[in-house]
Amino acid sequence: MRVLITGGAGFLASHLTDKFIADGHQVVGLDNFITGSTDNIAHLAGHAGYKFIRHDVSNYIFVEGALDGVLHLASPASPIDYLEHPIPTLKVGALGTHNALGLAKAKGARFFLASTSEVYGDPLIHPQPESYWGNVNPVGPRGVYDEAKRFAEAITMAYHRFHGVDTRIVRIFNTYGPRMRPHDGRVVSNFIVQALKGEPITIYGDGSQTRSFTYVDDEVDGLYRLFMHGDNDPTNIGNPVEFTVRQLAELVVELTGTKAPIVHRELPVDDPKVRQPDITKARAQLGWEPKVPLREGLERTIAYFDGVLGMVAR
Ligand code: NAD
Ligand code: UDP
Repeated sequence: MRVLITGGAGFLASHLTDKFIADGHQVVGLDNFITGSTDNIAHLAGHAGYKFIRHDVSNYIFVEGALDGVLHLASPASPIDYLEHPIPTLKVGALGTHNALGLAKAKGARFFLASTSEVYGDPLIHPQPESYWGNVNPVGPRGVYDEAKRFAEAITMAYHRFHGVDTRIVRIFNTYGPRMRPHDGRVVSNFIVQALKGEPITIYGDGSQTRSFTYVDDEVDGLYRLFMHGDNDPTNIGNPVEFTVRQLAELVVELTGTKAPIVHRELPVDDPKVRQPDITKARAQLGWEPKVPLREGLERTIAYFDGVLGMVAR
């Protein structure tokens, strides 16, 4: 297959690119580097199966040659990123998804949308099955991301129903691992970098809010299976083992052996109180479930950040 991956220089898309290349496919990566990095794709430079286009997907996309798949992963994803870039976030979810769908339709390619557990907002049903419609504040600060992704899901289904495009929608839950930026702002990278630098570990609120963390290798395996074998309705891909943010902080302290103190900061507006995927569908349809427990995934991620920061903990 020859596939286009938008957001190709980002954390998740760069790992997904490696998976496609390892399986013998050709990948065209596309990115405008708003939150991505050339470091994530430097190892692919000169690879016969890889090509890169620097472009903003919110503007008309031109790609030469045949495509079998268009995987749309471009979007700021960390809360601090989409709060800093609210309009580009809305545009990439709306205009960018429209352009990527138009390209898929023109090329007769399968379309794959990276959606998010944020479409469930601050959920009133727990854990969250795909059938849950969510509890989102459209006018709050997180609305720029949540509503862009909800629109992206809606237009993806419209292209499927109206134009007959073969589409996939994945709802990704908090994923972590190597290639996250040290100052990405998300909780796993924040806690690890703070611990390794001996700086205070910042729990927002009282730390009783929960998340379910997926190691990147598991997530990418799920995305790949869904692209190849999934159906057109949304599918949750995430690790169903739920932790409080405080438990995460304590685990990072234990694994790094840091002497850094845990401190509390204000909880961001509309921060979801709980989050846990119901993965019944992914298990049954894709034979997928995560394999890497949080402790092991954190150990690998700590080793990665240790290398990136060029310093040892303690
Ligand atoms: P990331 O910020 O590392 O990657 C996003 C990439 O998209 C970056 O390289 C960025 O430069 C690029 N991009 C953004 N806007 C663009 C535009 N207009 N044109 C071209 N490129 C653009 O984030 P990530 O964690 O790798 O997230 C990838 C996708 O997965 C996003 O769509 C995100 O919403 C989704 N997702 C991720 C998670 C997670 O936990 N990592 C959870 C839910 C959903
Ligand atoms: N969080 C935290 N300290 C940090 C960063 C995040 O306590 O330094 C909390 C945040 O308030 C949220 C959870 O960790 O409750 C996950 O935040 P993240 O930004 O990783 O992603 P979200 O799940 O909110 O999209």
